[in-house]
Amino acid sequence: MKERMNRRFDLHKLIRKNILELEPYASARDDFSGSASVFLDANENPYNSPLNRYPDPGQLELKRRIAGMRGQALENLFLGNGSDEGIDLLFRVLCEPGKDNVITVDPTYGMYGVCAKINDVERRSVLLSEDFSLDPDAVLDAVDPSTKLIFLCSPNNPTANSYRQEAMEKILDRAPCMVVVDEAYIDFSSSEGCLSLVPEKQNLVVLQTLSKAWGLAGIRLGMLFAHPDLVRYLSRVKYPYNINALTLDKALTELAETGQAARWIRMILEEREHLVAQLESLEVIRKVYPTDANFVLVQVADPAGLYAYLMQRGVIVRDRSSVPLCGGCLRITVGTPGENRKLIDTLKTYPMS
Ligand SMILES: *Cc1c(COP(=O)(O)O)cnc(C)c1O
Repeated sequence: MKERMNRRFDLHKLIRKNILELEPYASARDDFSGSASVFLDANENPYNSPLNRYPDPGQLELKRRIAGMRGQALENLFLGNGSDEGIDLLFRVLCEPGKDNVITVDPTYGMYGVCAKINDVERRSVLLSEDFSLDPDAVLDAVDPSTKLIFLCSPNNPTANSYRQEAMEKILDRAPCMVVVDEAYIDFSSSEGCLSLVPEKQNLVVLQTLSKAWGLAGIRLGMLFAHPDLVRYLSRVKYPYNINALTLDKALTELAETGQAARWIRMILEEREHLVAQLESLEVIRKVYPTDANFVLVQVADPAGLYAYLMQRGVIVRDRSSVPLCGGCLRITVGTPGENRKLIDTLKTYPMS
């Protein structure tokens, strides 16, 4: 039964009826392509160039750069105001409020659940195994005919591990819905990820972002790779100018600096190794979980107490102790060598009772 599911896969059957029928907003710049010197079509102010002009709603130049960089076709790429826009648009394009459902594999990124709530879509939670590994059969068992999206975050936030490729592919091959693989941390990972599968798997959506490895969380640029038909529907629903001119410009400049991100990634990975070794040597740290991302999950005896102790001394980490399977856990981002030293020095002064 499950083996046959994917043969019935038809993207258009998953799209909401109101979206299939949507006549999108046509902006002034949609009607015109080519070069002109007098633009009197969009009620812009003629002064204050270049920011007086609306940005390109198709983001063609930046899309070409990113698609080329990632080895993907242009029509497989959607750009959003952070990955968060892509996540929200998937709900709005695919999920009928009050009727459809999505599956998350917990503990994971909180935004999937928040978007589900906002869009009035049921979220079914499947737990990871105790060792944080992904059980594909448990996920597939939670699927029903109203399931539209399965969210897999790999490397996963907050557990920091990547899922086995075969486990993700089993879900992709058998699920009759879209499978979203969130690769926000893929640049720090030793696993290859799912991007290369986008051309062959119709039901795969891969999310990546400039917010982490590229050091550009402030400009808000998320990348979504998927089947061209899905990309077209997302593009029709987005705000026409969802990527602003400052972001477009800054992204193009930074992406031209090809060596910079690679150097940062190398530094962060080296520092991660050092940080893990130091944390493991501390009495206050009970356990350091393996990490494939730019953060470390640790288990301690008194997470709330330690969190407050660090905060009072100017070091902010994330208390994850209330999320499932993460009892006693704090999540710590890998910082600069100086920041990590401050963290370790402060941890060393924590009074053990
Ligand atoms: C940080 C993070 C993102 C990035 O979101 P942006 O909106 O692109 O900044 C996406 N997914 C996960 C799991 C993250 O931890």
